[in-house]
Amino acid sequence: MTEHHILVIEDETPIRRFLRASLQSEGYRVDEAASGDEGLKLAIRQPPDVVILDLGLPDMDGQDVLQRLREWYTAPIIILSARDQEPQKIKALDLGADDYITKPFGVGELLARLRTALRHSHRVGPEETTVVLGDLRIDLAARLVHRGEEEVHLTPLEYKLFTTMIKHAGKVLTHRFLLREVWGPLDSQENHYLRVFVASLRRKLEADPARPRHILTEQGVGYRLASE
Ligand code: CA
Repeated sequence: MTEHHILVIEDETPIRRFLRASLQSEGYRVDEAASGDEGLKLAIRQPPDVVILDLGLPDMDGQDVLQRLREWYTAPIIILSARDQEPQKIKALDLGADDYITKPFGVGELLARLRTALRHSHRVGPEETTVVLGDLRIDLAARLVHRGEEEVHLTPLEYKLFTTMIKHAGKVLTHRFLLREVWGPLDSQENHYLRVFVASLRRKLEADPARPRHILTEQGVGYRLASE
């Protein structure tokens, strides 16, 4: 197994130490930065497999660090946010963060999020035309969706919403992001569109729509397509 390289950008020393100890004991290689500027420099010097980025940094806004990273860095970024940073967290997800952890958090949650991020860091490439997610098989070239042996008929908008989720499988997608991608900028406040279409997709794609295994709800934030 290859050793994954994680960059932690966090100014609070106890949290940084906790992250380092937890990650190293699982065999990850860890770089640490206590400021946004230092983090950006380290990331450029040796691009990590995942960045764990605190939103509250002394020298720069975490969102600015995220934007600077996203100008060139395509691997997963997990944000650390405090409970009172809900709007900043959602904005960071809109700006291209993959996932978030709310402080205080435990080792178990941290490692689970990290494993998810690493698993999904290889997303659907342009060369892949068939995607398999558990009992679902999606032929992107033929625009066909099967659940088990059954073909599932999706409306054009349902298909567009679903393939947008497939393109970002494993990543937390905000309401705003999905509305913008599927309906365009004009309707981006219309959260109820999204609820209606997600409900309809779940009826068609989930074995039990009340307990979805594919299209997961991220409470107050958006949705995440599980990619297994
Ligand atoms: Ca902080």
